[in-house]
Parts: sequence; structure tokens; C-alpha cells
Amino acid sequence: MLDKVLPIYKYKFELLVNEIEQLRAGGDSFILPQKPVDRDVLFFTAVHGDEKIGVDVMRKIEQSQEIDWLIANDKALDANKRFINVDMNRAGPGNPNSEKHEERRAAEIIAKAQEFNYMVDLHGSKSDTGLFVIITKPSFEDLLLALQFKIANIVFWLPSEKRPTGPLVEFLEPAIEIEAGPKDSSSVQAELQEKIQYFLQNYTNQITKENLQGKNIFWVYGKHEKMDPKLINFEEVELDGEKFYPLLVGEYDFACYKMFKVNC
Ligand SMILES: [Zn+2]
Repeated sequence: MLDKVLPIYKYKFELLVNEIEQLRAGGDSFILPQKPVDRDVLFFTAVHGDEKIGVDVMRKIEQSQEIDWLIANDKALDANKRFINVDMNRAGPGNPNSEKHEERRAAEIIAKAQEFNYMVDLHGSKSDTGLFVIITKPSFEDLLLALQFKIANIVFWLPSEKRPTGPLVEFLEPAIEIEAGPKDSSSVQAELQEKIQYFLQNYTNQITKENLQGKNIFWVYGKHEKMDPKLINFEEVELDGEKFYPLLVGEYDFACYKMFKVNC
């Protein structure tokens, strides 16, 4: 396992594995960390303008309960495009003086998020992934937030090098992304709505070993270039003598990302 983790993350990875093992052993329980702010959860939608699923789900939920959410990229949403100038989910922490729409807006959103304890950024994919959580930094607090959702697959997906800009949730903590695919499926949308409503009722509860039951924790470590019918999201496969779990099959101009399972 450890040989597939980039040297810059090995130390944090081992700490994380230890913390998961302790939680699984049943000795510890946690609650989500609280900052001195009045508000709890803020949902981001349409960070990518061609991923409307989060907007639709928030509009449904707010018919029956109060929920704090924002449309991150309204211009790109109106145009049904991923972005106007640059990818907002690579533009964190943003720049209030930038000429680029997404860089200005990223700075606004990150400032707004300081009023809240927990951030959840909703995305949609073309690939048939179902729902999964993405964590963009080696953070146990992010994992605790992920574990308050009844979503089985949790993916640690960290940048392959140190760089100054990145996903919005990389600059907030605890903060996670939820990816839902295929994004145009009404059953995937209904499932996302149900998982968020469950979370809103339960996120203040203690987090114990029960929260790990039925969860699979993965770590992204590479790409697989060549398409193959054996590639199915989250199903282990062996190709060219290498075993891995595929992620986002067919989403990009290569076959998929490769993951291993964090077995602790
Ligand atoms: Zn997205």
C-alpha cells in the first residue's frame, strides 16, 4: 500500500491509517469539530456549470427544510459550461482582484465559508459511479465529515504535487466533495437528496466504529490509459499484471484513475 503513496504524503498517510484503525477498534468516538461560528453546514453547487444536479437537489430539499447553500458559478450554470474563464475547482483559494470570473468568485466563496463549520461541495459526473465522497487532503477531520454520510465509497484524491491553487475544499476544513454520476440520472439525484437529508438529521451525533461499517476507503495513485471492457467503477480488476480499483471510467480522455483500498 505505502509504496503507492507519494513521498510527500507517506507520513500523513500512516497517521491517517492509525486513526482509522483506532476508530475501527472501537476505543474512540468523535464529534465533528466546532468553530466559534453560528452556522453549521454550507453546501456548494455548480462549481462546475455543467453539473446542475446539486442545484436541483438543494431546491427540492429547501421545500421542506431550511438549508444553507450557494450556486458557485452562476454564469457557467446559465451557459451550461464547465467554466467561463478557468476551472473554479482548480482556482482555490481564489483572488478577489483577478480579471478571471472563477478566481474572483472562488475568493468570495472561501470568505463566505468562514461563517460555517462544515462545507460540502456537490459535483456530477458522466461516468456511472453512483455516489462517492472525495477528500482532497490527508485530513482525519475531512474523513469524519465524510463518515457522517451514509455513502459507501470514500476516495482520498490528493494533488500529485505541491502547488498554490486547487479545489475549493482544499482550502477549508472540514470540507468534502460529493460526486454523483451519471449526473442526469433521476435515481442518482433522488439518492443524493436522500443521503443529504439523512446527514442533516444525524451529523451532530457521535462518530463511532459503526460509521465505518459498510464503508470502503480508497486512495487514488495513478491513471490507466487504455480503455478495457473489464474496467468498472469501484470493482477490482487485474490488467497487465496489476490489480487496482477503477475510478471515473470513461470520464476523461484516458480510461480511468487507479485506486487501492486502504485496508485497515
Ligand atoms: Zn465537478
